[in-house]
Amino acid sequence: MSEPGDNDSAQDKQARHKARMEQRKKIVDEGVARALTERGVVLLYTGDGKGKTTAAVGTVTRALGYGYSAFVAQFIKGAWDCGEKNLLQGLPADRYRLEWQQMGTDFTWETQDFEADKAAAEALWVKARAALADPDTYLVVLDELTYALNYRWLDRDEVVAAIEERPEAQTVIITGRGAKQYLRDLADTVTEMRPLKHAFEAGIAARRGIEW
Ligand code: ATP
Ligand code: MG
Repeated sequence: MSEPGDNDSAQDKQARHKARMEQRKKIVDEGVARALTERGVVLLYTGDGKGKTTAAVGTVTRALGYGYSAFVAQFIKGAWDCGEKNLLQGLPADRYRLEWQQMGTDFTWETQDFEADKAAAEALWVKARAALADPDTYLVVLDELTYALNYRWLDRDEVVAAIEERPEAQTVIITGRGAKQYLRDLADTVTEMRPLKHAFEAGIAARRGIEW
């Protein structure tokens, strides 16, 4: 079946393509001209789809690649192995400034002890709060922070205030499912990962180096 434009000459197609590209360039240029504010931002990656932590850690590599310093706090229970951590922590410390901290509660996964989880989250939060107050830290990742807030391990107002009062040039990335409205309001950029399909549902096991 023929489509409209099928019989156009190559010249016509080229002319239309050029016009479309010029229009697009104009829109992009206008957007760039309007974006005059220079400051760090808050990014929120939420939703049930895969890719939130991967996107956050990918941004850490971007920052480190320009010589900026980054701090990662993972609000997850138990020591969580992940390939990116293995790689990034092996980088020469004199060139790449990275601190990667996790909640130290190997045992609470088994015991489901609320007070122990809360204490572990609070201990990690003290380190994260110090990074959020440090003008030399360019990027702070608060991975799975939504759980720590939704489980009420951390005080929501204190967390929001520390993020709002951070140094102007610092960027913060928050990840985790189920981000509440106040986090969406706090963030400058919000991306919701929406699962269309996940291999796990078809009985395929999570793969090392791919899922973690
Ligand atoms: P990733 O770490 O792969 O970027 P994520 O941070 O978006 O994923 P989490 O909600 O933190 O995902 O889930 C933790 C683990 O579950 C990860 O190993 C992740 O790959 C996997 N996962 C993510 N989304 C799904 C899903 N929709 N179904 C099954 N497993 C998932
Ligand atoms: Mg994650």
